[in-house]
Amino acid sequence: MGREGILVVVSGFSGAGKGTLMKALVKQYDEYALSISATTRKPREGETHGKEYFFLSREEFQTMIQENALIEYAQYVENYYGTPKAYVQQQMAAGRDVILEIEIQGAMKVKEQYPEALLLFVTPPSAAELKRRLISRGTESPEVIEARLKRAAEEAEYMGDYDYLVINDDLDTCVKEMHALIQAQHSRTSRQGKFIQQIKKELNEL
Ligand code: 5GP
Repeated sequence: MGREGILVVVSGFSGAGKGTLMKALVKQYDEYALSISATTRKPREGETHGKEYFFLSREEFQTMIQENALIEYAQYVENYYGTPKAYVQQQMAAGRDVILEIEIQGAMKVKEQYPEALLLFVTPPSAAELKRRLISRGTESPEVIEARLKRAAEEAEYMGDYDYLVINDDLDTCVKEMHALIQAQHSRTSRQGKFIQQIKKELNEL
């Protein structure tokens, strides 16, 4: 029986390793479609337009908002980030699970529009490890690192609003765990209405 795509929202502290995790997940399991966000942030070294993000000017981003082309958008440490609607809708309609790697305000807006979405929160094993990872990434200034750690403390307040917590200690373990959680979501009885109807009908006909 054909199954419908799930919307998976993945949030986590900046520096939790979400980017690496998402890349590994879609590489290992080709059934997942990773949404590419729009942002007004400048590309980091090695990032390309259309791959990690669609890098837009503030004006271009405003246009997308006005045209209602974003599922959600949020401001995060002085830049705007948003999820383009078209890709997500196309992929879900085609039965693929779509992964959004977005911050908390956006996650909550998605949950309002898609109550069946699966919300996962990724965290490093400890605060000290988070700080170490942010510093060793070497892409941000000390001020930006400070701002992101402050933001992490605020974001921690909302961890309980997510469905599952995923502790990113070992990459491979974490990838397997996320895959298992998404697959489990497919099996929820609330998503299996068609199957339940069918087997009931078959049983009555025996
Ligand atoms: P970064 O600048 O490190 O790539 O991303 C900063 C934060 O923005 C991360 O927490 C990331 O998950 C979030 N983010 C990326 N894309 C989106 C989006 O489309 N919407 C929202 N709300 N947050 C996003």
